[in-house]
Amino acid sequence: MTDTPSPIPFGKPQLDEAAFDAVRTVLESGMLVHGTVTPAFEEAFAARIGAKEAVAVSSCTAGLHLTLFVKGIGPGDRVAVPAMTHVATAHSVELVGAEPVFVDVDPATGNMSPTALEAVDGPLSAIMPVHYLGLPCDMDRIRAVAEAKGAFILEDCALAVDATWDGQKAGTLGLAGSFSFYPVKHMTSIEGGMVTTNDSGLATQLRKRRAFGYNRALGERTRPGIYDVDTLGLNYRMSEVEAAVGLTQVARMDEFQAARRSNDAALRAILTRIEGLTVFPDRHGKALSSHYCLNAVLPKDGSVSRDAVVDGLKARGIGSSVHYPGPVPLFTYYSDKYGYKSGDFPVAEWLAEQTISLPVGPHLGPGDAERLGNAFREAYMEGSK
Ligand SMILES: *Cc1c(COP(=O)(O)O)cnc(C)c1O
Repeated sequence: MTDTPSPIPFGKPQLDEAAFDAVRTVLESGMLVHGTVTPAFEEAFAARIGAKEAVAVSSCTAGLHLTLFVKGIGPGDRVAVPAMTHVATAHSVELVGAEPVFVDVDPATGNMSPTALEAVDGPLSAIMPVHYLGLPCDMDRIRAVAEAKGAFILEDCALAVDATWDGQKAGTLGLAGSFSFYPVKHMTSIEGGMVTTNDSGLATQLRKRRAFGYNRALGERTRPGIYDVDTLGLNYRMSEVEAAVGLTQVARMDEFQAARRSNDAALRAILTRIEGLTVFPDRHGKALSSHYCLNAVLPKDGSVSRDAVVDGLKARGIGSSVHYPGPVPLFTYYSDKYGYKSGDFPVAEWLAEQTISLPVGPHLGPGDAERLGNAFREAYMEGSK
């Protein structure tokens, strides 16, 4: 009897004893928010990214929303967003009452197409590049458009921890960047996010307005618990438990990233030999990927059924994902509101229909990447009509 190989899920958080101990320490301290662990996590993350400041928030979405809110983006503002992204990017724009201007993506990378961005008519107040599955966008051309339009750049770095453009890390490539610590991203804090910036004034405002807009200066001048409020704010704080988990994960990022790189290389070597399959690059121009997952795109002509490939993988115990199941402008909320229709974003539509994301995370064991590649090849053959 042969052993059935264990299943490989798309993602699985890697939590060690240090994480369990850190959570226990926080819980026993009784200091569940407003402690010293969140600032320590912020400092460690800022150091990792090479940003002056890092502001912990409750999620990446919260970080995107908070940054637009603090920058005063609102009704009348237009913000460029790629058509192929997590809906959170566009939602953050809608939440402040501004209008997302959707830009189709580049078929070679899945990133916001600089050519399509350059063709946007009219004013833009902000541009939100999303580093698709960890590969940085073409920042030279995006910066040129931002300068010409007087727009600031807010990076969606949810899948881009340690990704670099021209040797500089994502999160430092524009005014600010927002990261996600959702359980199956590069690292986790359970839920959680972080906004990085080199603008200390912005960081001060983010800290104030992630917590109700309390004017701490006045509170300190009078007595603890006594404060003035001179602006609107939200409650987007991170808890000490989340920060404690996050801090143990930052300490393991070198290990995690080394595993991602080697799993990606092993899987890539197999998949690039499959005829008709497009395998997205992990480097492009000045961009180096953070290897969130490996993105395989089936032939445009529909000759291979994605459902069949996904089912074939599942039958072999292998999890996959789809990034993302629709171009955001064609989701009902956006198409109803703005009248977008099928055919408006051809590249994003191709990806939404034909892309499959495969795991390369540190949860893969020895030999798993090869097993996954071979299983994919078999499932691909079965799915070919
Ligand atoms: C996961 C993800 C988000 C949302 O992150 P949360 O921390 O869950 O809010 C936003 N943008 C992209 C590109 C993502 O992949």
